[in-house]
Amino acid sequence: MWSTISTWPFSLQAVEKASQILAAGGNAVDAAEQGIHLVESDPKVDSVARGGWLNAKGELELDAAMMHGGTLRVGCVAAVKGFEHPVTIARAVMEKSKHNILVGTGAEEFADKCGIERADEDRLIMPAARKLYEENLKKLEEEQEIVGHDTIGLIALDQSGNIVSATSTSGASMKTPGRVGDSPIIGSGFYAMNGAGACVATGLGEDIMRTCCSHRTVALMEAGLSPQEAADKVIYSATRAIIDAGYHCDCMAIVCMNGKGEIGASCNHQGFTYTYAHEGQEPTSVVVTPIIDIGGIPNETKHTC
Ligand code: ASP
Repeated sequence: MWSTISTWPFSLQAVEKASQILAAGGNAVDAAEQGIHLVESDPKVDSVARGGWLNAKGELELDAAMMHGGTLRVGCVAAVKGFEHPVTIARAVMEKSKHNILVGTGAEEFADKCGIERADEDRLIMPAARKLYEENLKKLEEEQEIVGHDTIGLIALDQSGNIVSATSTSGASMKTPGRVGDSPIIGSGFYAMNGAGACVATGLGEDIMRTCCSHRTVALMEAGLSPQEAADKVIYSATRAIIDAGYHCDCMAIVCMNGKGEIGASCNHQGFTYTYAHEGQEPTSVVVTPIIDIGGIPNETKHTC
């Protein structure tokens, strides 16, 4: 029995690839990495690696992670420049480094040592991203709000019962250089533990980190909740906690899977879609109805990141 689930409609190609690998008896690490590679290389996906949104200095700075639920080994990279496949660097950290998290030039030099190929700026940064950057600079001058961020988060459960979670993102558009989102932060943007399950998140990283969405979801599944019950409980409680503390709550969404391959998904905003596939079933995309909708809740404060 195998299963996979991933965030957003653009993950369809990743779920298809991961499914092929899992169906052929491949392992969850390869399935997650190779599935995410397709999205990282796709210039039409404007929030992940090649083609991704730029930071406030017009640079493409990438975050990624991978966690193996059987070994609890983890690899995270943040603020990486000049690579098309940050998830491969994350995998290398997980498999070859004694550390869990490497950032910036340290992560880039580690990737070089591992023989991971660099990519030219001309390949990584698309004209559309540069154009948007110029437009956003004007918006900032006019003190308008900048929006734009998404992540591919993918969970794969292989036929040996190993569950893996992985993420890759260019993070928040116009972010301050050096900003790290939730996607490479253990327990926030991702978590995995064989038997209990795995979770990945997408949405504004600052809010997801404050509320540790992924580890909380896995802990609830471990305690016996179904994936859907766990996902709804965490998104509802995290959103309410931020609003009740008097702050603006931005969008948050998670997808999760337990050790049996059962899945759940929850969000606090309209428009979140995920894609999944199980053994014997074609990849399918599902639009999620928010368990709580921040669009309908007055927020008095604004983020400034
Ligand atoms: N969570 C990502 C970040 O904050 C962006 C997203 O998934 O929307 O970097």
